Amino acid sequence: MDLAIELVIAIVIGVLVVVAGGLSLLRGRTRRPPLADAETAAELRKQAPVAPPPVADPRELEGVERPQLIDLEDPALADTGTPGGTSVVEVPAPPITPAERFRQRLTRARSSFGTSVSGAFRRGLTDEAWEDLEETLIGADVGVEATTELVDGLRSRVRAEGIRTGEGAVALLKEVLRLELAVADRTLHRRPRGTTVWLVTGVNGTGKTTSIGKIAARATANGDHVVLAAADTFRAAAAEQLELWGERAGARVVRGAEGADPAAVAFDGYQAARADGANLLLVDTAGRLQNKTSLMAELGKVKRVLERESGPCDEVLLVLDATTGQNGLAQAKAFLDTVDVSGVVLTKLDGTAKGGIVVAIQRQLNIPVKLVGLGESVDDLAEFDPDAFIEALFGPAEQDVDAETDAGGSGGASALGA
Ligand code: GDP
Repeated sequence: MDLAIELVIAIVIGVLVVVAGGLSLLRGRTRRPPLADAETAAELRKQAPVAPPPVADPRELEGVERPQLIDLEDPALADTGTPGGTSVVEVPAPPITPAERFRQRLTRARSSFGTSVSGAFRRGLTDEAWEDLEETLIGADVGVEATTELVDGLRSRVRAEGIRTGEGAVALLKEVLRLELAVADRTLHRRPRGTTVWLVTGVNGTGKTTSIGKIAARATANGDHVVLAAADTFRAAAAEQLELWGERAGARVVRGAEGADPAAVAFDGYQAARADGANLLLVDTAGRLQNKTSLMAELGKVKRVLERESGPCDEVLLVLDATTGQNGLAQAKAFLDTVDVSGVVLTKLDGTAKGGIVVAIQRQLNIPVKLVGLGESVDDLAEFDPDAFIEALFGPAEQDVDAETDAGGSGGASALGA
């Protein structure tokens, strides 16, 4: 019996030894036995070489099959889930130059004015061609008197300089217009210290509030601290519109109650700007023409009261709508009789076929166009660059198709005299 028990125990032990041996053998296949630290380091060094493998001599690679390069742009890879699937990388649009911007936005003026001028001389320097040129300039709002002067002057120079081709005459016209526009000082004046004051005037609907908003947005983006004064207290909507622009631009808006004295609001605006340490105050004024006399009296008072506090305004900007042509100029004269206007903001130049208004403003009003509105969005304001303007006006018409398609783009024009 004892022998039998001993035999069973021996068998059980034997079986256990065999099972344990088998298990450890299995574990050895699936998992590495733990290594002592030194051994681990040595083992890891063997597995992961610290230096990159040497670059093979190209001669050794001859005949060796090279891995295929994956084209990341290949649309066939887009759905495969491979590392080469199409990746979307946003490439920022290159900044647009002022010249390019003018070209894009003056499509309408170019296709009527530029094309007509070139067309006039297509048959050479005939009397008919000169008459066509006159008609084109008058139609483009250059003004009758200015047109006669320009065309007479051009004809004499063409004769004196022995110019025989239509292209030569067009080139000379460009030069004459460039010289005509080059004489003006288009600086937007700033105070070296303290709060610069720009008073903005103009008839309602010309784009006064929009232009103030655009100026404010540009100025704050340039690091200016801007305050807006809503001195058109006649229309609540005007102050509300200015508040929206102020919010967008990050500029405080000072407004009064409806019907409050506009001069008092302008005064408060200056006080607030001073207290805030703002370096630019833009004052929006009323522009209803129904009662011209009282409107002008009001504007005069706003300027006087403001200047008593702030000293002379650094700019008195008159906003004119380019699409109103010679009518706009007649309206402008009423403002000029009341306040010393230092510059014109010519809006809606994008919407007019009559680019000649720029020449008329300078000739008839003797005021430089300092800023131009080239659309409704916040970026659509540019300092007026005569060369870019003339190039855009006379630019080849075949570019118009491109210009129409990318006219929605906007880019930065240069700083507003900052
Ligand atoms: P305000 O009454 O003089 O203050 O005129 P607003 O600023 O309210 O502008 C009148 C309209 O003209 C609005 O619809 C503006 O979006 C639009 N506007 C202003 N400036 C421009 C511009 O440069 N181009 C175009 N196309 N529209 C403009």
